[in-house]
Amino acid sequence: MTHETAVSNAKEIADGVLAPAAGQNDKAGRFSTEAVEALGRAGLLGLMLPAEAGGSGLGPRTLATVIATLAEADASAAMVYLMHVLGAATIAAARPGADVAPALQEIAAGRHLSTLAFSESGSRSHFWAPVSRARRNGAGVHISAKKSWVTSAGHAQSYIVSSLAPEGAGPTDSTLYLVPAGTRGLSVASPWDGLGMRANASAPMLLDDCEVPAGLQLTDDGGGFPAMLNVVLPLFNLGTSAVALGLCRAAVAGTAGHLKSARFEHLGQSLGESLPTLRAQLATMQIDTDGLSARIDDLIDHLERPRDTTMLRVLETKAAAGDVAIAVTSAAMRTCGGAAFSKHMIVERLFRDAHAGAVMAPTGDVLREFIAKAILGMPLF
Ligand SMILES: Cc1cc2nc3c(=O)[nH]c(=O)nc-3n(C[C@H](O)[C@H](O)[C@H](O)COP(=O)(O)OP(=O)(O)OC[C@H]3O[C@@H](n4cnc5c(N)ncnc54)[C@H](O)[C@@H]3O)c2cc1C
Repeated sequence: MTHETAVSNAKEIADGVLAPAAGQNDKAGRFSTEAVEALGRAGLLGLMLPAEAGGSGLGPRTLATVIATLAEADASAAMVYLMHVLGAATIAAARPGADVAPALQEIAAGRHLSTLAFSESGSRSHFWAPVSRARRNGAGVHISAKKSWVTSAGHAQSYIVSSLAPEGAGPTDSTLYLVPAGTRGLSVASPWDGLGMRANASAPMLLDDCEVPAGLQLTDDGGGFPAMLNVVLPLFNLGTSAVALGLCRAAVAGTAGHLKSARFEHLGQSLGESLPTLRAQLATMQIDTDGLSARIDDLIDHLERPRDTTMLRVLETKAAAGDVAIAVTSAAMRTCGGAAFSKHMIVERLFRDAHAGAVMAPTGDVLREFIAKAILGMPLF
């Protein structure tokens, strides 16, 4: 698959599968299995897997474009896809000897959805410091953990679970494990009923003494933290920024459509023709959206050609994207007035979905902490 085919497949799914059902799925809080099946059939589940693992070996540029395209139609589905890509990348980066070939094969064949189960009730958004600790069981481990949010909970075929290494000494001495769906002791703790992203099943999950064989240990003991930083964080921050971009584009399009179609009949004009204040709001939304797009392009360039400033850009882009998505969708709400407030149009779903980015860890606040500490030469953890 090439970049162009991947993007055109994503557009087809966005228009044909996601857009027609997004409103209903949001209302019902319904996870779209049709979306996942369509992504699998189109070969998009193996997008970034290396060719040796049966994947397409495509890079961050394609990932960002595919995700923004999906998010413009349905941010919940785009987030499900992003968490899968991160899970797949972590499996593909497993330590030598890990028994991951069957999972990779299924992902490449479009039949396996993965996700990340990092956040825990005990350490909340500080996902780099799990409070659960794996317990040695012969060559494998047993894990008990309260995972506070897991996108695609109950729908994924595998969960990438973090836990403190059995003999880990510090708070970040974690290990990553692949826990297949159906593992005894693994369950969804309660249903997902979020303000936004309502169709992505980001429910809490419980691991109750789950047995994980040695072959499904993905990192060395204590190697979870470096994998989170090097494999997951750059793509997660890029992907959530691309979700934000898709939301902003949809907000601009939805607002422009409303300004053209809604009319002041007594004046014989559309809203857009009548009110310069609304035109100015729309213009600001467009400026902010294109600014975010440029920022994402800059991050992609940094990921393709890593340099000293790459980690800073990784942190900055997600922090900025969270704020831009909230600002642009808030402007859309105000510009579209009571029609938006009364849920007559998609803008209010975009507004609710946009608020997830800033609270998904690393949150906007934590990113600012990291950025400022990096500038001041202070240790981040
Ligand atoms: C829709 C959705 C999907 C999710 N999907 C997943 C998933 O698939 N896998 C997963 O592992 N997790 C997932 N999460 C969890 C997410 O990544 C965060 O862990 C979670 O949103 C944090 O919420 P909290 O209430 O625990 O935050 P808290 O940690 O309680 O934070 C509360 C506030 O304090 C601020 N804060 C915290 N620490 C600092 C600091 N050091 N400096 C400054 N401010 C700080 C935060 O920014 C926040 O505003 C998801 C969350 C959402 C909303």
